[in-house]
Amino acid sequence: MARKLFIAANWKMNLSAQQGTALASELAGSVSSDWSVEVAVCPPNVYLSIVHTALEGSAIRLGAQNVYYESNGAFTGQVSPAMLVDIGCDYVIIGHSETRHTIEPHEGDALINRKVLAALAGNLKVILCIGETLDQREQEHTESVLNAQLSAGLANVDSNLAQKITIAYEPVWAIGTGKTATTEQAQQAHAFVRARLGELLSPAAAERICIQYGGSVKPNNAAELLAQPDVDGALVGGAGLKADVFLEIIKAGL
Ligand code: PEP
Repeated sequence: MARKLFIAANWKMNLSAQQGTALASELAGSVSSDWSVEVAVCPPNVYLSIVHTALEGSAIRLGAQNVYYESNGAFTGQVSPAMLVDIGCDYVIIGHSETRHTIEPHEGDALINRKVLAALAGNLKVILCIGETLDQREQEHTESVLNAQLSAGLANVDSNLAQKITIAYEPVWAIGTGKTATTEQAQQAHAFVRARLGELLSPAAAERICIQYGGSVKPNNAAELLAQPDVDGALVGGAGLKADVFLEIIKAGL
């Protein structure tokens, strides 16, 4: 089954309200709904509403960078799936390497799974990030790490929800470092992830699920990465903060 490429920008904790609005407006005016690529931007929560307004009428979807698993109540600082849907989000990133390894307290697989289940139940599409550290790769633990993160992250997920799930394979050593996985490394990891999705969900679900690559994707490496048979898109950090640069990456997928 042909999978539509999906390219998303994770703005992380960057840009001002004015810069975010300008970036979203420029992208909205440049990305055509005829393009064969799904495009999304994931601004900080405080800018979701203004970016949603800037994207109105465009082909670009809105995503958040995290979510909490409860629907409401005394959970200071958190946002629920329903709140993200209410503000116009289609997507949410869950399990990003910075929430797993950098921001304290680190998120573990059990928490990530609760978030995945709550987001799907709340009608959000999930971008579940997985990836090994440099140490784990050097010790040849890449596949066992991916397997553990995938199995735990997708525990109790109904295989009929495959169309609402994207997996982002993001080797931690490639995020924000300028080091990109080679096309062979990316394809090998993606093929492994797809095979495991087949066992965890169903072969049909595995064929359907988009597996993005993330980790220093730039205009000069995007086309080669996106040409790999199991690379179905990209999750882009730094290169998603400038309209012309992000557009070049999107166009590499056309
Ligand atoms: C990311 O944040 O998911 C990411 C891949 O960042 P960068 O493209 O900057 O490496």
